[in-house]
Amino acid sequence: MENGKNRELLTLNSGDMAMPYEWSIGLYGSRFFQEIREKRRFLGIRCPKCQKVLVPPRRICGPCFQKLDELVELVSCPVGLIKIDVEGAEYAVLEGATRVLAECRPLFYVEVGAEQNADVTAVFQRLKYRLYDGDSDDEVELTQCAFNTLAVPRESTRTNRC
Ligand SMILES: [Zn+2]
Repeated sequence: MENGKNRELLTLNSGDMAMPYEWSIGLYGSRFFQEIREKRRFLGIRCPKCQKVLVPPRRICGPCFQKLDELVELVSCPVGLIKIDVEGAEYAVLEGATRVLAECRPLFYVEVGAEQNADVTAVFQRLKYRLYDGDSDDEVELTQCAFNTLAVPRESTRTNRC
């Protein structure tokens, strides 16, 4: 073959051939991606024994060997703090995190560029967050974002010393 005398001709086919297999990510794997695509939400599955929520959902809890069937939406997500340092895209990131902001009410530590300050300040004020200078030990609430801003939900008892 390497000397070129016994080369086989390559043939091309149309791509219409029958495939003897089907790729699958399983019942829960498919549902996981369908929910993201169609409802823009994440699902996990809760283990009845250890109570852990596994993401993405699967049929069996590995440590417990329990069969799993309780799909749960990850709305009560335990997001406690989000740090944003995105060089001028702060406002876009916050707008994209609307659901997390509304449902999880995390703390934010955000680097805010001067050109984004008014828009980012407006988002936090609309969502009822208190603003603090993240580079200062002062607990003085700000009326607009600092370069490094700590944003705390108004209902929270946490301060910038948390
Ligand atoms: Zn388990």
